[in-house]
Amino acid sequence: MDIATAEDSGARGSIAADRWATGLLLVSILCPALPILGWILVIPVLRGFGNPHYAIAPLTAALFLLIAIGALLAHRGAWNVARAVTAVPLALLLLIVVQYAARLDLGLERLLFSGQVAALQVTNRGIPGLGAVAIFILNCIAILLMTSRSAFARTWVVLLASASLGLSVLTMTMTVTDPTNLSPTFIGRSTASALPNFTMALAMVLHILNESGLNERGRQQEELGFEYTLLRQLSPAIIVLPVFPSLIALLSVGGRLLTHNEAHFLVVVGNVLIVLLLLGIGLRRAKQQNEAVLLRERQLRSILAGVPDAVIVIDGEGRSKDFSAAAARLWGVPPEMGPGCNMADYLGDKERDKLAGLLARKAPEFLLTGEGVRFDGSRFPLELRGALLQGMDDETCFTLFARDLSEKLAAEQHVARLGAQLAHVSRHNAMGELAADLAHELNQPLTAAVNYLSAAGFVLNQREDQGPAPEMVEQARGQVVRAGEIIRRMREFAQHRDVEKRVEPLVPMIDDAIQLVLAGTSAHHVEIELAVEPEDLCVFIDRIQVQQVVVNLLRNAVEAIRSSAPHRGRITIAAYRNDEEWVEILFRDDGPGVPEAILDQLFERFTSTKAGAGMGIGLSISRRIVEAHGGTMSAANGEGGGATFCFTLPAASVEDQEVSRPAP
Ligand code: ADP
Repeated sequence: MDIATAEDSGARGSIAADRWATGLLLVSILCPALPILGWILVIPVLRGFGNPHYAIAPLTAALFLLIAIGALLAHRGAWNVARAVTAVPLALLLLIVVQYAARLDLGLERLLFSGQVAALQVTNRGIPGLGAVAIFILNCIAILLMTSRSAFARTWVVLLASASLGLSVLTMTMTVTDPTNLSPTFIGRSTASALPNFTMALAMVLHILNESGLNERGRQQEELGFEYTLLRQLSPAIIVLPVFPSLIALLSVGGRLLTHNEAHFLVVVGNVLIVLLLLGIGLRRAKQQNEAVLLRERQLRSILAGVPDAVIVIDGEGRSKDFSAAAARLWGVPPEMGPGCNMADYLGDKERDKLAGLLARKAPEFLLTGEGVRFDGSRFPLELRGALLQGMDDETCFTLFARDLSEKLAAEQHVARLGAQLAHVSRHNAMGELAADLAHELNQPLTAAVNYLSAAGFVLNQREDQGPAPEMVEQARGQVVRAGEIIRRMREFAQHRDVEKRVEPLVPMIDDAIQLVLAGTSAHHVEIELAVEPEDLCVFIDRIQVQQVVVNLLRNAVEAIRSSAPHRGRITIAAYRNDEEWVEILFRDDGPGVPEAILDQLFERFTSTKAGAGMGIGLSISRRIVEAHGGTMSAANGEGGGATFCFTLPAASVEDQEVSRPAP
């Protein structure tokens, strides 16, 4: 049986027991209600609970009716009403005790149907016998304890209800076997009243034993400890079972099956056997339960030893109770010194105060980031998550999960640095691209202007009345030539950049670029797969420049995927050695593909479909960078949709990497 079904059947069992308890309590309410009805309507059969020649005392029936109603209310959780209803019979019962003890006449017998009671000469003037009073008081106390939140008080419910159960069995037997032998002031002739008491006490025992399956409080009590649970479960049997040998003995003597001596022997032997039986059951269950505790303890130890996260359990004062092996490694604490140490010693000043505040106000969950202090005094960025663990006796513990943020922060700084470098290079490249275009576009008109101005100077020189005009035309020509020079220099300046080619491993270079794109676009809807064969494949490149190509291609692919339904997809980056000299790198996405209309002039400047959002120079810069490395770049659409961009870079070997690394 797996755990879920075991729990299911446990819950089903609990609900069934709950229904049984309710049913039994209804029976114990119905039993006294009938005689009371008999008294009200003057129906002898009802009044005598089936026996028209006998009358059950109305006070006894009424007291019990109230007690049974109180028990039902307590069972259903209406604790306040249950307390109020039970207080009435308890007060009356105490008065009866006073009346018996002080031999006073408080007139209690005149409370209900006094005329009928006197006329019928009801036993003991209708006042319940002392034995019944004692059992009723037991019941009242048990009901009041049922409405208590204290686990200890609720344990007493089982004991008292079990005692009441045993006593009702005994009372029933005694009144059945030898009613004449009993004094009316002690027990009365109320076998009938013992039956509803039996059902009620049974219901109360069921209620308490079953509550662990039904509610949280009960479950907490179950967790109190196996000895406690075991004793609680066995206590009804310990109290009730020893009644049975006496019962059998009484019946046997009454039926003349045994002599008095034989009956005594039966009681002694019977009780010894019962004690043996209960002890045997108790020992067996205690062993099983202790083994289960040991197993859980070992499981916890192995979890704390193996869990990769740093886990610490601390008490409300911040003192550690458990310290996982990973936590000991994180703080550099010798494992044996972990448990018992003060958490405050391992935190920075601010964090120490913050943690103290959180513990003091018993924060159910918290996240604290700041500084951790290792055993050797060194400091590290720390993230501490905590969760409150409320114990039974208001004892509080917290489970802490700690993480060293050094690596995460270093990675973030690395990506930020790379981003800044790339942004710089990208601006530079974009300017170069624009300058090249300007130069290209302005070159022709400027050349034409120079030619026209030269021609105009020549024509003017033929004239006689030249004046200052040739001079001015010559100056204009000079200025136009200068403008051409400026543009040429600007182009050269923008394009001029020391290319720092080195042997670079491909995987970390592409990985960094991926991180950058993911950080910048929060592209959670895109899966990126990188397959480089062999993994240590190296290329001879200017890392920053080529990273710009990778970033351009990735951003385009992410944007293409995002622009079309279902707005999610996959980008595959593959790289392999094409031949001895070249490495081929492929970017494939499952977006909509490059629009056919621009496929031919894709790498030309200012080709873009992102109206306003793109400049259309990314691909042309990318191709220029690739070509500056001696490689080629091309694009195509796949048959099943999606775009593929492919470029080549000069190959290098891992050994070259050592050689090309700059001297420190
Ligand atoms: P920009 O991105 O600024 O428009 P690019 O030169 O990087 O400039 O891209 C030019 C055009 O090529 C884009 O506008 C887009 O239409 C198309 N394109 C580029 N990559 C892809 C791709 N992976 N899928 C579909 N279209 C693409």
